[in-house]
Amino acid sequence: MEILSSVDLVKKYGFKFTKSLGQNFLTDDSVLDAIVEGAEVDKDDFVIEIGPGVGVLTCRLINKAKSVCAIELDDKLIPILEQELGSCENFELIHGDALKVNFKEIIGDEQSVKVVANLPYYVTTPIISRFLTEGYNFKSLTIMIQKEVAERINGVPRTKAYGALSVFAQYYCDTSIVKRVPAGCFIPQPKVDSIVIKLDKLEKPKVEVDDEKFFFKVVKQAFQMRRKTLWNCMKVLGLEKERLIEAFEEANIDMKRRGETLSIEEFATLANCIYKKTK
Ligand code: SAM
Repeated sequence: MEILSSVDLVKKYGFKFTKSLGQNFLTDDSVLDAIVEGAEVDKDDFVIEIGPGVGVLTCRLINKAKSVCAIELDDKLIPILEQELGSCENFELIHGDALKVNFKEIIGDEQSVKVVANLPYYVTTPIISRFLTEGYNFKSLTIMIQKEVAERINGVPRTKAYGALSVFAQYYCDTSIVKRVPAGCFIPQPKVDSIVIKLDKLEKPKVEVDDEKFFFKVVKQAFQMRRKTLWNCMKVLGLEKERLIEAFEEANIDMKRRGETLSIEEFATLANCIYKKTK
């Protein structure tokens, strides 16, 4: 199966872009190939694509995967996708909102599920959050997102990019940067550069925590005031001073450190020690 470029398809159908839907279509073949390669799609895979646009990435996925289910919100793109890709037997198109569709139903009893997408920027965080926390059976997310967000997801301690989002994503997944993509690779050109990032879901979270909600509260608190010491950040959790001191001692973490220096393992230890003192 072959398809024209985004530029030619836009011309062919006289397609008019809708800015509010984050429509920046990929025009660079090498980036499209890098996404499919980075996602490691093969003949056993059921691929979910969010936002197929005019279908340039979709077509490549169809050629590699067992089957592809694409979810597109824009009414104007549905007839184009049906015309261009509708004859493929391993392709299903859902006209709907990826923020609302029932992914459990879409996934059904598929065993090797990979999500691949050039995401509209406004859905990035909610989509990642849905996949990481709603318990779907999937192997990986390979997604093109805004550069800064990707760097935060992939952030390591003692860097500016490291924050609550890094710990959140790395609690559930191994993360890696697949490719940096300049704004010139899209029509129309977005204002920012992008990155293709891969999130490989771990079989179980990276660290053991006594209470997930409390763990994420501690992490959020630690980064809320980045320049303050952990002691100052944790004071607001409402624990008695002596008990909080004991928790830091038991965790073997110096309370004068800043949150941005803690590894995910250290955050787990600290959160577990503080949590025990709340009981
Ligand atoms: N995949 C194409 C490409 O790489 O050229 C298009 C990517 S474009 C960045 C994002 C696509 O997501 C657009 O086709 C847009 O209409 C679609 N979209 C926007 N919001 C959506 C939503 N909530 N659910 C599903 N698709 C959405």
